[in-house]
Amino acid sequence: MKKLIEKNPLIEDIAECKEIFWINEKACGSAGVDAKAQSPDTSGSDAASGVDIDGAEARLLRFAPFIEKMFADAKGGIIESELKEISAMKEADQATEISGRLFLKCDSHLPVSGSIKARGGIYEVLKLAEKIAMEEGGLTWDDDYSVLAEQRYKDIFSKYKVAVGSTGNLGLSIGIISATIGFEVTVHMSADARQWKKDMLRSKGAKVVEYPDDYEAAVAQGRREAAADPACHFVDDENSLDLFEGYSVAGKRLRKQLEEQGITIDKEHRLYVYLPCGVGGAPGGVAWGIKQYFGDDAYCFFAEPTHAPCMVLGLVSGLKNKIAVGDIGIDGKTEADGLAVGRPSALVSDIMDTQLTGCYTVDDAKLYPYLAMLTDSLRRKAQLAAKPASRARQDSLLLTKTPST
Ligand SMILES: *Cc1c(COP(=O)(O)O)cnc(C)c1O
Repeated sequence: MKKLIEKNPLIEDIAECKEIFWINEKACGSAGVDAKAQSPDTSGSDAASGVDIDGAEARLLRFAPFIEKMFADAKGGIIESELKEISAMKEADQATEISGRLFLKCDSHLPVSGSIKARGGIYEVLKLAEKIAMEEGGLTWDDDYSVLAEQRYKDIFSKYKVAVGSTGNLGLSIGIISATIGFEVTVHMSADARQWKKDMLRSKGAKVVEYPDDYEAAVAQGRREAAADPACHFVDDENSLDLFEGYSVAGKRLRKQLEEQGITIDKEHRLYVYLPCGVGGAPGGVAWGIKQYFGDDAYCFFAEPTHAPCMVLGLVSGLKNKIAVGDIGIDGKTEADGLAVGRPSALVSDIMDTQLTGCYTVDDAKLYPYLAMLTDSLRRKAQLAAKPASRARQDSLLLTKTPST
């Protein structure tokens, strides 16, 4: 610990659960370190060299008729979220100066499972189903994939199992899509997982195994059980390139959404992206996808809870997945249950080592006030738009009370 801190003083602040901000000097195009970007170290990027965003997007399009048939909330069978300008939040947050426009990518409202995990998690299971359906059911790329809802395919899928370890949201995504396809699915849930997520999964026909320990233990047990069964596919949140590929499609879709809103990204109009990070798979895949389209004009930052700062610890120390927050005395406990992870993904910390602009941590005490500020500012804006001027003014006075911690 002493040696770690000597080499990098920031680790002392991380260990004390202080809020920190870190710029990654190894990253190509990092804000403020452009001079170093001349010769980026790209060694870690090799791990992602097999990732095919166009291929993944084409696969998701092939599945659209099936998704549309099975999930009423997925319009056109495409699982995507709105890119929403939140100028009211920009005004409400007086402590932060933002010179550009502020947008919210509403992945909390993604169809099917209501979190960013609806990107990678569902993609990996669809890819598996496609492979099995082609090998055993004669499915071809040209077929209308809604045939996969037929009993003859369900009979094929029911011979296979899917397993996953999760703090909640990945389990929801994998559980819902696997059960819908017809796989036998087991979700290994850590202690952080919320009760309603476990209840919902069970109601969909998934088997839920609960652990008193943290996320790492749940994943390890899931991996062990799956390894003993050749018919079982384990969705490995810590190492899966398929998950990563599914998340990376977000980069391509975001480019299209920005174009649709008439927004140009270039050297004078840079894109800053702030991504909540747990094990790193979701924000890593999304950031990697974004970098493929915007290159040095995009700056991606990971946000982590002060009590679960696994990625920034792994990157700052250089130890990546060889160090966990517990090693420096941090408990890993946070209200942000999707981020309650003690050790970063080996795969993603390798790739992000040279791609990520930086990381910062946020104290839990700020999360709900910020969420309230966001909700209130959006509601206020909607009410102002809907009501006559005099009433609207009255309401805005009532609603400007900022929640106290
Ligand atoms: C899982 C999750 C994240 C982070 O994804 P990781 O792959 O664990 O880094 C962020 N936000 C939400 C809502 C999540 O469920």
